[in-house]
Amino acid sequence: MVRLRARLARSQNTLGKGLLDLLSRDRLDDDTWDEIEETLITADVGIAPTQAMVQDLRTQVKVLGSRTPDEVRALLRKELLIQIGADLDRTLHVQPHGERPAVVLVVGVNGTGKTTTTGKLARSLVGDGRSVVLGAADTFRAAAADQLQTWGDRVGAEVVRGPEGGDPASVAFDAVAKGTADKADVVIVDTAGRLHTKTGLMDELGKVKRVIEKKATVDEVLLVLDATTGQNGMRQAQVFAEVVDVTGIALTKLDGTAKGGIIISVQRELGVPVKLVGLGEGPDDLAPFDPEVFVDALLG
Ligand code: GDP
Repeated sequence: MVRLRARLARSQNTLGKGLLDLLSRDRLDDDTWDEIEETLITADVGIAPTQAMVQDLRTQVKVLGSRTPDEVRALLRKELLIQIGADLDRTLHVQPHGERPAVVLVVGVNGTGKTTTTGKLARSLVGDGRSVVLGAADTFRAAAADQLQTWGDRVGAEVVRGPEGGDPASVAFDAVAKGTADKADVVIVDTAGRLHTKTGLMDELGKVKRVIEKKATVDEVLLVLDATTGQNGMRQAQVFAEVVDVTGIALTKLDGTAKGGIIISVQRELGVPVKLVGLGEGPDDLAPFDPEVFVDALLG
């Protein structure tokens, strides 16, 4: 996995610098607070979290009185860490249970980076000496299973696939069965992200989960969210979070946006910790999310 800091430092980030500049002004009048609010919203922080943050910052600044650049930085750093939920548990649950593999379900809208994230996660686990089985439960698109197969071949993970148009739950079941028979450490199931109707989605994902649970425990449900889709993507992600118990977010394409505020939005509006971030298309472009490193990169 890549080093988060080095990679983020390279992506130009407007949020941290913009806020630092504004908060360092001699006079913080209403116009400046409006600008601060605008900066946060433009950086995809979302309306409600922005308002909470501005209120907090206003109070803190009042308490502080005069401000040196270091004090402003420290204040903003602290506030961002609070908003990001610095002390949330971000453990990725990938520990096998004795002879049974850990099971990770990867869900989210098509195109967000589910298959790529599945491949990268497998790569990192294999790199740590674990054996991994991948389940191609997106049976609706022929290319999806081929794409996962390519990742499997590339990173050294077995891929279980079914017939095109087959039952996703049955592929998920077979993948878990294969993982159990082979005494694999982790099974990662890549699902279809068709957002047709909420009930349809619920039925589909619910069935996949129930069927897996006949054989194993689902340890982690990773919701993949594309950072470049901003608030629109957030709304779609919310639908997934409503139909399945999401345990972690993988925020992809963070390399493609300068709007780091989406991290705050995700955390506050979905109530689920970001556990992984995608920083490119390559096999090693995945990093565990570390709030401190992220905030320090934002503030430069
Ligand atoms: P899926 O339909 O959700 O399975 O999405 P894919 O895994 O096929 O990804 C869709 C596109 O996004 C592909 O072109 C990926 O290479 C690209 N992608 C996925 N993750 C990242 C990332 O973190 N950064 C960048 N720049 N591209 C990504």
